Amino acid sequence: MDFDLTDEQRMLQDTVRRYLKDNIAPIADTYDRKGPMSKQDAHKFLRELKPFGYVGTMVKEELGGAGLGHIDWAILHEELRGTYASLGGVVGIASASSHGMSESENEELRNRILPGLLSGDKIACTAITEPNVGSNAAGVETTATLEGDHYVINGNKTWISNGTIADYVVVVATVDRSKGVHGILQLLVEKEVSPFASREMNKMGVKSFPTAELNFEDCRVPSTNLLMPPGEGFKRALKGLTFARCNAAIASVGIAQAAIDASIRYARERTQFGKPIGQFQLIQEMIADMVTEVEAARLLTYRAFSMLENGKKARKEGSIAKAYATEAAVRVASKAIQIHGAYGLSEEYPVERYFRDARCYTIPDGTTEIQKLIIGREVLGMSAF
Ligand SMILES: Cc1cc2nc3c(=O)[nH]c(=O)nc-3n(C[C@H](O)[C@H](O)[C@H](O)COP(=O)(O)OP(=O)(O)OC[C@H]3O[C@@H](n4cnc5c(N)ncnc54)[C@H](O)[C@@H]3O)c2cc1C
Repeated sequence: MDFDLTDEQRMLQDTVRRYLKDNIAPIADTYDRKGPMSKQDAHKFLRELKPFGYVGTMVKEELGGAGLGHIDWAILHEELRGTYASLGGVVGIASASSHGMSESENEELRNRILPGLLSGDKIACTAITEPNVGSNAAGVETTATLEGDHYVINGNKTWISNGTIADYVVVVATVDRSKGVHGILQLLVEKEVSPFASREMNKMGVKSFPTAELNFEDCRVPSTNLLMPPGEGFKRALKGLTFARCNAAIASVGIAQAAIDASIRYARERTQFGKPIGQFQLIQEMIADMVTEVEAARLLTYRAFSMLENGKKARKEGSIAKAYATEAAVRVASKAIQIHGAYGLSEEYPVERYFRDARCYTIPDGTTEIQKLIIGREVLGMSAF
């Protein structure tokens, strides 16, 4: 068992850490407070971050991707999420979408769509959640009806990350609700070819990470845009969710580590009763608890990523990492505010942003409760849902 990064991974970490500190950290707060990121800004950031491997991270080099692995992904995202979590979200969804596209068996579609995603000129996202369908993803109500050589999509999707800035949406829909998961397919909807309405949904944290409601009304999509046929669509969505859970976990580790770093700086500088508050045992206890929780979260998350890297399913481990890391980040960011006293609540310091950002990750890609039910199912062999 080796807990060390390789020399290449360490170099990647140092390089991005330096770049993000000099170029992204100074603008993160101002950008985030402006609200949902514009499409123009998203493309600008994607092009700037591409040389480090943030775009098409795990797409094979022969297909034009960065050819990096799951641990590299974790390193890149731990650093970016701790610097500017919303930007990490935009980039993460865009890059994970290109990975999904690179694995599509629809070669014609893949060859046409992938280059734009890999250059940062196009952005994609995935739409599963609906107004009536959250944790119970198998219950999707959006329909895709085959009419000649087109599918006609009708339905609404909610909480779709990158939804308002996406050129392409992977829509998870059903051809026949009576067939349950066996009726679920995945279609690639190209906004220019098959227009649909979108509306931004403002939220308390990761404020500049766009989150959208999408409305499909008789939206005609060429049947050649079929990514996964009925029956495969749900299985693939579930497979993608394990990776997404690890990704939410690493986002939380990055945000929580940033909260610790800010707290250490503050505890060394702020004096009360004639000494730095870092000398008080109760402040040290908070910092010790924060560090312990983040170290545990990081180990769980890297283990899950490492299993995915080695071709294992990591269903239980991904859920453990997601449940633990996202909840730990909320506790850690809350303690960071406590250490900062009233200043922790102020927009002058970054910890209130870390808290708001961390709070958003216990819900997507399966809530903490759903992760616990998955862990329970994996160890007991019985499903509670
Ligand atoms: C920031 C963000 C980004 C997102 N991005 C995307 C995206 O890109 N694409 C996408 O498709 N979706 C996205 N989502 C949606 C997300 O996946 C859902 O919000 C999530 O699955 C939970 O669904 P829900 O919000 O409808 O809650 P519900 O399912 O309505 O749950 C409400 C409460 O009931 C609990 N609950 C539900 N079922 C059970 C059960 N069986 N046992 C115990 N408790 C239960 C839940 O844990 C929760 O506490 C995003 C959400 C957020 C917040």
